[in-house]
Amino acid sequence: MRIHVADHPLVAHKLTTLRDERTDSPTFRALTDELVTLLAYEATRDVRVDEVTVRTPVAEAVGTKLARPIPLVVPILRAGLGMLDGMMRLLPTAEVGFLGMVRNEETLQASTYATRMPDDLSGRQVYVLDPMLATGGTLVAAIRELIRRGADDVTAICLLTAPEGVRLMEKELAGTPVTVVTAPIDERLNEHGYIVPGLGDAGDRMYGTAG
Ligand code: URA
Repeated sequence: MRIHVADHPLVAHKLTTLRDERTDSPTFRALTDELVTLLAYEATRDVRVDEVTVRTPVAEAVGTKLARPIPLVVPILRAGLGMLDGMMRLLPTAEVGFLGMVRNEETLQASTYATRMPDDLSGRQVYVLDPMLATGGTLVAAIRELIRRGADDVTAICLLTAPEGVRLMEKELAGTPVTVVTAPIDERLNEHGYIVPGLGDAGDRMYGTAG
């Protein structure tokens, strides 16, 4: 497993407003969208392409097109949904699968309540969207399922990460074709499994507490 920390000043600038408890939900969603596009630019550096030839009005040019099968983007519901538009802006022809996962707030264990994606992901590059890599339990479970279905290249895109989550991912996903692209790695988790200083509950901040 590889980890890439995006240290671009624009990422840091937008993240600072995202962290601010005074930032309202519409602004939070808009900033998440912008941040994901910046992170997606880094995350797609190794997207598979084929060489193609096109005719310009002047001559033949050798270029590249996304290879097939086209990548699959998998937001982890609920908060990963807020990252989907930003990702699809860069990969508009990608297909989208969905994984609904919820964390038990006492045991911090993740369980799956909804799955909509192809059974066979052989040869597929997959981009998983989950804003908060906290304990790592959700992401490890999600990525194991993608690999079980045949995905041979998985990139997780996260807004914020805790060292505890990185350690679990490194232990549980050692030797797998997995990359994590994240904005900074924060200090630690608190006793409730929240990232410190973090930004609070990403889903609540995007969508409120109704869900
Ligand atoms: N999930 C969140 O939304 N925030 C955290 O800090 C940890 C997990």
